[in-house]
Amino acid sequence: MKKIAIFGSTGSIGESTLNVIRENPELFSVVTLVAGKNIEKLIKQIEEFKPKNVYIIDRENADRLKELYKDINIYYGEDGMEEISKCTDFDISISALVGVAGLKPTYNMIKNGKTVALANKEVLVAGGELIMKTAKEYKAKLLTVDSEHSAIMQCLNGEENNEIDKILLTASGGPFFDKEITDKITVEEALNHPTWSMGPKITIDSSTMMNKGFEIIEARWLFDVEPKNIEVVVHRKSLVHSMVQFKDGTIMASIGPKSMQIPIAYALEYPNRLKNNIEKLNLFEVVDLKFEKPDLEKFKCLKLAYTAIEKGHSFQVVLNAANEVLVDAFLNKKIKYTDIPNGIEKIMNMYEKRDLKTVDDILAFDKEVREKTREIILN
Ligand code: NDP
Repeated sequence: MKKIAIFGSTGSIGESTLNVIRENPELFSVVTLVAGKNIEKLIKQIEEFKPKNVYIIDRENADRLKELYKDINIYYGEDGMEEISKCTDFDISISALVGVAGLKPTYNMIKNGKTVALANKEVLVAGGELIMKTAKEYKAKLLTVDSEHSAIMQCLNGEENNEIDKILLTASGGPFFDKEITDKITVEEALNHPTWSMGPKITIDSSTMMNKGFEIIEARWLFDVEPKNIEVVVHRKSLVHSMVQFKDGTIMASIGPKSMQIPIAYALEYPNRLKNNIEKLNLFEVVDLKFEKPDLEKFKCLKLAYTAIEKGHSFQVVLNAANEVLVDAFLNKKIKYTDIPNGIEKIMNMYEKRDLKTVDDILAFDKEVREKTREIILN
């Protein structure tokens, strides 16, 4: 039986992971649950899955958990996150915190040579080179549960000796692909994703297509492919999850139902597949496999991601940090939708290249950019 740690258990990926575990009790047990603030949901998860280690951000909530569960190791705060991410008592961890908050814990797990299935793409946006280098050095296995990257991983199975011509990264285009982008767009409209149900931050990132920019960076590191060989193709139906074109012109595609449980289960049992109860695709109903180019003038965030890729690592840290602050401000109705790309551009233009070698360098710079973004855009 595989012991699973879930960083971000109360979120969308965390819950999908628990569904996979719930459906396969003979294969998986939960050893660690890490949550942010949602103590009520966390308590339900503890009751059902009986983990050994639990984390919650606030001390007050941790004290309540300590009262309730005397035989569980309860962690909280910054030190607690450091400690729980250094516990090695698991076989595979799902890294599904949101944003750069996941960088240090993921790095710690990799440094301990553990197997990590990554949902939290911002980890690779902010620290891809360091994470990949550390994984190699400490012989940690890095898998992915991001649906596009899981698709690419599946297309590459058994193709180790074949040269990749390009990766074709599919994008749904989000809710505004066929609509005008204006400063009147509301939080509710931006959260209304046409094909996927996800946490709020990634849903906004999908609507601006920043998510696709992040995924180019993610793919570059996971599959060691130059960004110029990664092409974004908009496929509105989200049935083709991504493709790989090889040097002989053959395109391998991964096509399947829209459920995050599939890539999660694939990572948990990699490279084997698990049965599930998800409705299979009826190919006779899949009439439209249309692919379109994204409009970089309209989706300015995707263009900014390309700029950050071209300018180098520290600009990707700026891109991510400014985006996190501005998406949060938009979700809290403090700024307009168009302030997200315009604000990121303004902040990116304020920085010169920096050399960021360690996790601490990255996190210190991330903090600096967040402060600047708040000072310049939110004040
Ligand atoms: P959610 O917002 O739904 O969940 C985030 C989880 O992380 C919650 O459990 C939250 O706890 C926890 N969390 C957030 N910050 C902290 C923190 N500082 N300390 C401890 N716990 C924290 O996000 P998603 O599940 O949608 O996304 C997670 C990651 O996976 C993101 O990076 C996203 O880009 C990526 N991803 C998501 C996909 C999806 O389908 N949802 C698809 C592909 C990638 P709480 O809620 O208790 O506060």
